[in-house]
Amino acid sequence: MTIDNQTKLCAVIGHSISHSKSPIVHNAAYKAAKQNYVFLAFDFTQVNEAIKIMKQLDIKEFAVTMPHKIEVMDYLDKIDPLAKKIQSVNTVINKDGKLYGYNTDITGVERTFTKNRVNLKDKKVVMIGAGGVARTVGVVVKNLGGKLTIFDRTGSKSFALAETLKCDADTIDNLDKYTDYQILINATPAGMHPNTRSMPVPANFIKKNRVIFDLIYNPIKTRLLKEGEKKGCKCINGVDMFVGQAARQFELLTGKKAPMKVMEQAFVGSIK
Ligand code: NAP
Repeated sequence: MTIDNQTKLCAVIGHSISHSKSPIVHNAAYKAAKQNYVFLAFDFTQVNEAIKIMKQLDIKEFAVTMPHKIEVMDYLDKIDPLAKKIQSVNTVINKDGKLYGYNTDITGVERTFTKNRVNLKDKKVVMIGAGGVARTVGVVVKNLGGKLTIFDRTGSKSFALAETLKCDADTIDNLDKYTDYQILINATPAGMHPNTRSMPVPANFIKKNRVIFDLIYNPIKTRLLKEGEKKGCKCINGVDMFVGQAARQFELLTGKKAPMKVMEQAFVGSIK
């Protein structure tokens, strides 16, 4: 990649940001598609400062990560209706000084289901976790016709989220009542590096020939997915979601089709 006087800057902002894979994935895409951008990672505790600098330096895109996905909405000129609906923006595009907000995590989840040929219509879906990403996944599951029940450990977040999404909720203690699920989704960090022995559900909750979607991508194959494979389940990791949301960001920025294969290789290569 040649950096010259025409090179435009993009960045991921969050706190903390040191483990972000976004620079690796986006710079690989710019290089492959011959786009004159460079993508860096900036640690900001204050969103308003990041936005000020975005305007001053004419930064063309911010990928927004925790904990700024909600607060950043206060500083935008226009927000995509779906992002507004889920109250979460993970992408800001700067067009001639006007800032436009999007949520490409939604696209990441949609593309995951499409690519892996998962039909959600009228399927019983159990989702463990009721945090930020669970809200996004829940919206997509509902939009695609899934019958969703959300679980967490205490019930404090799952019932509130279920009320917003107009679906059901329960606590993990009661999982035994839901063994007739067809699709199991893990939207918690349980099983993520370095706690790779953890699982969000007991092993005996994993039944034969179901679909399991674990949002975790490090490790690429979690213990949950390994146990699922033993039972003949269709197992999907978090790679397609991450690459899908990054690809949509690339498309919003450049107006061109994203080099998905290159992005996936860069992403997976950065995890190994
Ligand atoms: P979050 O807002 O912190 O929410 C985490 C949720 O998981 C909460 O409901 C929490 O419940 C629950 N939880 C935490 N530890 C648990 C455990 N050991 N057993 C059961 N439930 C547990 O996090 P988030 O932003 O939603 O992200 C969740 C995970 O999604 C991340 O860790 C990451 O692996 C994955 N993710 C993947 C992608 C992707 O592109 N593939 C993108 C974003 C996130 P409590 O209130 O009970 O703690």
